[in-house]
Amino acid sequence: QLLHDLLDLKGNIRVFCRVRPFTLEESIGGIGAVVALDTSNLLLKLGDNKTKRYTFDYVFQGSSQDGVFSEVEPVIKSVLDGYNACIFAYGQTGTGKTFTMEGTLDSPGIVPRTIETLFKQALDSNHTFLITFSMLEIYLGNLKDLLVPQAARATDPLPPWSVNHYANYHSVKMPADLDAEVFFFFLCSLSIQTDPKGGIGIENLVSIQVSDFNQALKLYRLGCQLRSTASTNSNTTSSRSHCMIRISMTCFNAPERRRETNKIWLVDLGGSERVMKTKAWGRRLDEGKAINLSLSALGDVIHALQRKKSHIPYRNSKLTQVLKDSLGEDSKTLMLVHVSPKEEDLCETICSLNFAARVK
Ligand code: ADP
Ligand code: MG
Repeated sequence: QLLHDLLDLKGNIRVFCRVRPFTLEESIGGIGAVVALDTSNLLLKLGDNKTKRYTFDYVFQGSSQDGVFSEVEPVIKSVLDGYNACIFAYGQTGTGKTFTMEGTLDSPGIVPRTIETLFKQALDSNHTFLITFSMLEIYLGNLKDLLVPQAARATDPLPPWSVNHYANYHSVKMPADLDAEVFFFFLCSLSIQTDPKGGIGIENLVSIQVSDFNQALKLYRLGCQLRSTASTNSNTTSSRSHCMIRISMTCFNAPERRRETNKIWLVDLGGSERVMKTKAWGRRLDEGKAINLSLSALGDVIHALQRKKSHIPYRNSKLTQVLKDSLGEDSKTLMLVHVSPKEEDLCETICSLNFAARVK
């Protein structure tokens, strides 16, 4: 363990940048605004021959999912060494956050690859691990369980199987005098709890024990289907919420470990584009504001951690409250900042690169 720590000279927070490739349509007459100089430097073309250079722990341009994952993998492996970890996909809508995290059937992203790696590592280890899977989203500052079918809530009358089904996961019985729908709502309302050791738990979050890769993948696909998406002027399928996957690994009878349970959070953040640009109003405006607020709260927390400040402002958003015990000294953090290659997205690209520079 000590050797591992000594060799780990890069620190606990890493910032990568991934440039989305031009689509076939865009490439006709498209002018590139960002160029990767090498694997750590990105050049931004500001017009009038002006350029600005940004340095990252890694820059991906034209990289395959394999290529990205091989740089991400050490963070995932650190979970088996006793760290908590967070991997974030940050960026403007349409820059490839979901492509990086979820990927496609042909080229799977970080989430399915992480699940696969963790199961492989657990099998290869001398210890026995209990692995659980949870998935939630933060939408307008509220936590929503993505393994509880939201559609079931709207169904009238509520199918009784769903209540019992999910009550089983929580090991609670429905009180006879309680209306099924009220009870279901109770199951769905998540709250953040801190244990005496400072560990963060989410009360009522469905956490399902998974025994193999396929089982976990099935749950993940279920959660993806339930993820609430809404359209904005920016992008008709833009996601206005943060999507968060938690994989916990508990190892009993291994006294040399720092904790019994370690967890990794895989987070597909809501689009970072500023609210005004999307010409949003009403609910769309609220969604945009909520995302902007929580993203800046996340930036503030990582910034404070990097500078070893005595006060870390976790309390400013639900996002940072949930991640409090996984963002800090004994944790590994990886921020994957996504940018568009297009000249017309330059303003948002600059904002994203400035966010990256702040957390580095
Ligand atoms: P976001 O989640 O940030 O809104 P998406 O992941 O939905 O963005 O990406 C937008 C589009 O660009 C999708 O059609 C996606 O498949 C494509 N795309 C993004 N990144 C890549 C990449 N690295 N290689 C190929 N296609 C990509
Ligand atoms: Mg997305």
